[in-house]
Amino acid sequence: MSDAQQVLAESARRRTFAVISHPDAGKSTLTEALALHAEVIDSAGAVHGKSGRKGVTSDWMEMERSRGISVSSAVLQFAYRDQVINLLDTPGHGDFSEDTYRVLTAVDAAVMLLDAAKGLEPQTLKLFDVCRSRGVPVITFVNKWDRPGREALELLDEVEQTIGLRPMPLTWPVGIAGQFRGLVERETGAYTAFTRAAGGATKATATAVDATTIAAQEPEFWRTAQDELGLLDEIGQTWDEKDFLSGIATPVLFGSALSNIGVARLLDTLVDLAPAPAARADVEGHDRPLDAPTSGMVFKVQAGMDKAHRDRMAFLRLCSGRFERGMILTHAATGKPFATKYAQSVFGNERTTVEEAFPGDIVGLVNATALKPGDTLYASGPVEFPTIPAFAPEHFAVVRCKDAGKTKQFRKGIEQLGTEAVIQVLRSDLRGDQAPVLAAVGPLQFDVVSARLETEFGAPVTMDRLPYKEARLTDAEAFQVLSAQSETEVLRRDTDGAYLALFSNKWRMDIVMRKYPDLRLDAMPAGT
Ligand code: GDP
Repeated sequence: MSDAQQVLAESARRRTFAVISHPDAGKSTLTEALALHAEVIDSAGAVHGKSGRKGVTSDWMEMERSRGISVSSAVLQFAYRDQVINLLDTPGHGDFSEDTYRVLTAVDAAVMLLDAAKGLEPQTLKLFDVCRSRGVPVITFVNKWDRPGREALELLDEVEQTIGLRPMPLTWPVGIAGQFRGLVERETGAYTAFTRAAGGATKATATAVDATTIAAQEPEFWRTAQDELGLLDEIGQTWDEKDFLSGIATPVLFGSALSNIGVARLLDTLVDLAPAPAARADVEGHDRPLDAPTSGMVFKVQAGMDKAHRDRMAFLRLCSGRFERGMILTHAATGKPFATKYAQSVFGNERTTVEEAFPGDIVGLVNATALKPGDTLYASGPVEFPTIPAFAPEHFAVVRCKDAGKTKQFRKGIEQLGTEAVIQVLRSDLRGDQAPVLAAVGPLQFDVVSARLETEFGAPVTMDRLPYKEARLTDAEAFQVLSAQSETEVLRRDTDGAYLALFSNKWRMDIVMRKYPDLRLDAMPAGT
């Protein structure tokens, strides 16, 4: 096999995805269930034994527990049915940061995890918006089906009505939530019964049962399920690959991460239906073929992952070619060489050296001080992928240096953190250089900035939250008018010089918009 053929074959085996959900929907439980079902492999492709497997997932969770937040979103890689699955963690904390969004720029598909009792929740909606704006196909998994919840049809209706995504159930539950009996495969009609083992075990046992048997055992539940299936066929909620890949429709599965119901079905769906890595468009709009020379996009930079060493790790999503540890890549933004001697894969706080990786895989690059999210690295044939857009901030704070003797360090730190895209830095003449405004998608970003300014730059700061809630992109012409409005402020963003208008609330903003319909006030949907 030629090198190009091998790259194509390897990338065709990759499925790179993330789970999007609201806290408590069961993401950690599902992640562990998926990894336990499959086999966690190391970067060299070797499958870990049972103990290794356990270590990997529990370490990952341990880190989340001990720090309260999974600030270190990492990657779980596992083998399933001869495929390599990369599961990128999106920080699961109730708090939110741009990191969560950026992870979605590095995946080829997402699993939208819903709690059967709660349906679509706020963070799920926000993350879904990012998937939609980036054209990431979404598979829906309705979780916690083992306990009382809402009706299946009602949940599907909510998905369709709220986000305009047509649900295409692949399986259908028999028995209502809480009195769940099993799942019917829509395509074949095959039925699998799930029974809890005796002795309080949480894992359910799956048994194939023929339709006549279950129809006799559970006539009521069976009839209801058949009626519902008939209805789904009638209204055309059937599998359509094109609609899934174009983000108009979502395959839906029912199950329980905790009881291990539907977990293998989800893995099968990922392998059978989710897209493999595809050629990524560069800044000029040309697709970079998968078998072109090595290239990748940095989607996340994490500082202080290793307490013992003050390091910075950049996570690179491979977009084309074969990656080999030690190769010298070019940093597109500066044209400087970047040595990959210390390439690693990261499972929580466990690191393994990466020897080789293919499109779809994630490589952690240590000591990546020059790299920032959105940067491109390539081996040859200059290429640059589009940078990751700044997401709409919703939280704002004025930052000031506590110690007048440290203003130089303060200024340097703010500049550095802004360039790294840890936070968006906004300024105005009115506020002056010593009190810039920081804009964040989630308040967690302020804590990260405070901590890093103090520990890395020796500049302790105070943060005063500002009462703004809405931000819009505007321009120099609108500056005068907007600055004269109450509860409104206009600032410029350091990184691109864009004008941002901040409003105390949506109501206030709407008044201004109505009064001055010609002003430029563009929404910043995630991804623009
Ligand atoms: P995360 O915040 O989304 O990562 O959610 P977790 O995985 O931590 O789960 C939140 C809670 O829901 C935990 O108490 C889990 O045990 C529970 N949970 C997760 N999946 C299921 C499920 O399928 N059934 C039931 N009954 N509980 C679940």
